[in-house]
Amino acid sequence: MVFKSKLPSFVEPTTGLYQFLFPNPSNIPDERPMLFDALNPSKFLTYSQLKNYSLRFAAGLQDVCDFKDGDVLALYASSQYEYALPYLGAIAAGGVITTANPNFSLEELLEQFQQVKPKVIICQDDNIDIALAAGDLSGVERKNIFIFGDKEAQSFQPFKTALIRGRKAVVKDINFEQAKEKVAILCFSSGTTGRSKGVMTTHANMTANLIQFTSLERRYLNKKNDRILSVIPLFHIFGLTVILNTALYLGLPVYVLPRFDPVDFCETVQNCKITYIPAVPTVCLFLAKQKLVEEYNLSSLRLILCGGSPLSGDLVKEAMRKLPNLLIKQGYGLTETSPFSIIEPSEETIHGSSGILLSNMTAKLVDDDGNEIQGGNRGELWLKGPNIMKGYLNNPLATADCMDDEGYFHTGDIVVVDKDEHFYVVDRKKELIKHNGFQVPPAELEGILITYPGIADCAVIGIYDHDLATEMPRAYIALEGGMSSSPVLAADIMKFVANKVAHYKQLRSLLFVDSIPRGPAGKILRRVLRESTKEEDVKN
Ligand code: AMP
Repeated sequence: MVFKSKLPSFVEPTTGLYQFLFPNPSNIPDERPMLFDALNPSKFLTYSQLKNYSLRFAAGLQDVCDFKDGDVLALYASSQYEYALPYLGAIAAGGVITTANPNFSLEELLEQFQQVKPKVIICQDDNIDIALAAGDLSGVERKNIFIFGDKEAQSFQPFKTALIRGRKAVVKDINFEQAKEKVAILCFSSGTTGRSKGVMTTHANMTANLIQFTSLERRYLNKKNDRILSVIPLFHIFGLTVILNTALYLGLPVYVLPRFDPVDFCETVQNCKITYIPAVPTVCLFLAKQKLVEEYNLSSLRLILCGGSPLSGDLVKEAMRKLPNLLIKQGYGLTETSPFSIIEPSEETIHGSSGILLSNMTAKLVDDDGNEIQGGNRGELWLKGPNIMKGYLNNPLATADCMDDEGYFHTGDIVVVDKDEHFYVVDRKKELIKHNGFQVPPAELEGILITYPGIADCAVIGIYDHDLATEMPRAYIALEGGMSSSPVLAADIMKFVANKVAHYKQLRSLLFVDSIPRGPAGKILRRVLRESTKEEDVKN
């Protein structure tokens, strides 16, 4: 069955992201503070600073780093209020941004750098050694490496002093055809299978998703009273679109936390009178379950938009009982859809549903053979619209695997659609594991595990932990003959993986098995492993 968005359609912007944002369509006053350091709100950037510094940063990139149209700037840093400057500046210079988790190991960062070939890196003083090593191995000139903050580290300059100089760059105009082709962002996603791939998000994808998102939400977001808390990572496309682009488009101030910390979270909401939080289910779990919440006055909180992972309706009700002014609703999307495709409207929220199709989108529900099926059945969701990525970087095979001739992107998610066309995400057909909203590609962990001496075969799947409202990566290990399993060996294997990956990809459990179930072509039968975990649930 084909579903067409019931929301009013819009005419897609015919220019680039920077060119769309900075004519200032919402008439935001120049002196309005827009981005705050949530831990020290006396530090902030006003609208005019964002506009002027990003243009001066763009000129600095051109003059100091010989940065040209289409060159890539890598941001290897946690969320911070100055994140918007290199983000907007590189885009203004005609470049591309790639974002990396600040906790990435050398192997993880190098895998990304070898695909995107950055010309410039901006990192932090605490991860500069990894940035330097990955930069050296992927041919980045050391003079093109800078850091966030005010102080130099290992003689590398803060980008603010090295790149934000006098001259302002002139932003080139681009037309609609160019905006649909020109890549603005390269975030990474494993898609339906395999290792992480660079998702080519174009200027037209970014502006379209900004309009799709804000045209649904702007009736509830009021630039006079609303204040956003940024607690989801700005290095995920969720943060770039829903926080930075939305704030600059609508004129809403944002308080940026580097990560979720319970006390910082409560203090910021209370002291800065936060009204709106884009979040992942962990935040809702915290609000529903933690006593600490009762020690603070969080009554300013009006709306939480939760995405990235499944969120149970019961958890939502529990959190909303504690904070009666608060509406929690869901949205659904993927890095490949820039990100939001489906959001619950605030006036008709159904707990447990991810929402309705955003403007200018069409969806199809299909069975395993790609045949259209009726809404009440479980089927794979295919999506079409102006926010669907251009494809995976340098990977036409992976692109062809998930994008068809009619322009549908195959999400790998299993959904049900009710009679009013609210979508419910009920399962996942693809390999991906999501831990606290972060992607954990099983193929990546399996690639590491198989290098451990004595492991003959392995598979990794996600086990949903209801108490923590997230999936936990679990490994199944078949040992070579002559090796015997033991708790000591299990702990050593888990440590081996932990040393090579960011903390959110760590294995949370490990089971030894005689063999890994594989199909005739050698593909891991993850379904069989998942079924066996259901038996565990019953036994428990
Ligand atoms: P990412 O590309 O990191 O944003 O991950 C996208 C994946 O997250 C989707 O394909 C879904 O599997 C999952 N996801 C996103 N939003 C939701 C949601 N509201 N409910 C369930 N799963 C979700």
